Amino acid sequence: MSKRWTIDKIKIFVENNSDSKLLTTEYHGFSQKLLFKCACGSNFEKTLTKFNNNNQRKCDVCQPPKTSRGE
Ligand SMILES: [Zn+2]
Repeated sequence: MSKRWTIDKIKIFVENNSDSKLLTTEYHGFSQKLLFKCACGSNFEKTLTKFNNNNQRKCDVCQPPKTSRGE
């Protein structure tokens, strides 16, 4: 039913779909925060769900969290 991620698949996904790199080396589940390194050099944490579904693929400096739509 749900797609089964492994740390290797996540790593490839991150490299293919963003400018960030995955620093976490073990994956325990979708609620786990993964550690990424942004292209700007900053590290940031996101769950895979946010990274994947919400397109949050950079650190908060390069991609500030959205609080409202349409502005
Ligand atoms: Zn950044």
